[in-house]
Amino acid sequence: MRARQRLDEIYAIAQHRAGYSPEEDAAHELAARWMREAGLEISRDDAGNLFGRRGEARVWAGSHLDSVPTGGRFDGALGVVAALEAAERLPAAPLAVVAFRAEETGPMGSKTVTSFPDAYLEVHIEQGPVLARLGEPLGVVTAIAGQARGFRVFEGRADHAGTTPIDARADALVDAARFILHVRESAREGTVATVGAIEVEPNATNVVPAKVTVSVDARSADGDLLAALIEEIEFEVQWKSDPVPMSDAFAKVLPDAPRVVSGAGHDAMFIPNSSMLFVRSLNGGISHHPDELSSDEDIALAVDALTAALARLAS
Ligand SMILES: [Zn+2]
Repeated sequence: MRARQRLDEIYAIAQHRAGYSPEEDAAHELAARWMREAGLEISRDDAGNLFGRRGEARVWAGSHLDSVPTGGRFDGALGVVAALEAAERLPAAPLAVVAFRAEETGPMGSKTVTSFPDAYLEVHIEQGPVLARLGEPLGVVTAIAGQARGFRVFEGRADHAGTTPIDARADALVDAARFILHVRESAREGTVATVGAIEVEPNATNVVPAKVTVSVDARSADGDLLAALIEEIEFEVQWKSDPVPMSDAFAKVLPDAPRVVSGAGHDAMFIPNSSMLFVRSLNGGISHHPDELSSDEDIALAVDALTAALARLAS
């Protein structure tokens, strides 16, 4: 299918297309060529976001074309390619296909957008196993999770690892280990919490750990659940974002599709009146990895749904 061929073409430019790199530039050039071929008018804003417009476009559809170093074919690029397919199926509809810049590092492009459309639609690979577990090809995203990131510090005392009796130690890493389990146990239905980084001082094999700093990443699409989770874990919050509810544009055309939340951030967070559609991730939901995969059949269903949603909004 053409959408899949185009994903392969973008991937062939480079697996790693960092934001504002020559590789991302090349992907934008390629997308601009496809937009022109579809009869769309090309423009770029100050951030370098690429638009392919037809008429007084009040509805946008798209995603991003940058990728992480270990990226696969679908993250981001699928949303742009699907939007191109839908735009060609609606030759009279006033709409814009958009490719945002540098989503993986910020996002930098969508964050700067100030002239908003009535609606923004984004198709994205799920990047998780939920839809595959449900046996469903598509999921309507109800909200993008809010996040809290921070840390917790444990203070102990450095001592000789051979001569200090166990009951005479103040081992900061043992306290941190208990905390890491507590973080995991605090995450219940509707929330996730992760310790992804620890710093041990002095970090020597023969010294009792004196000080340990543990990172915490807590997320929920429900603001109350997120607040309760932060309170239960007890950590120093350095940065926090609120959940972002999505509009019902995809729900209107897919009334029976499962409702899911997005644990990851997306461009849609920064554009008002956004709606997102997830496409089932195969291979166990693996993403940011070359084995990332959605089937041609599932992509075709996503393009159908996007076309129907755009037709409603752009008419
Ligand atoms: Zn993405």
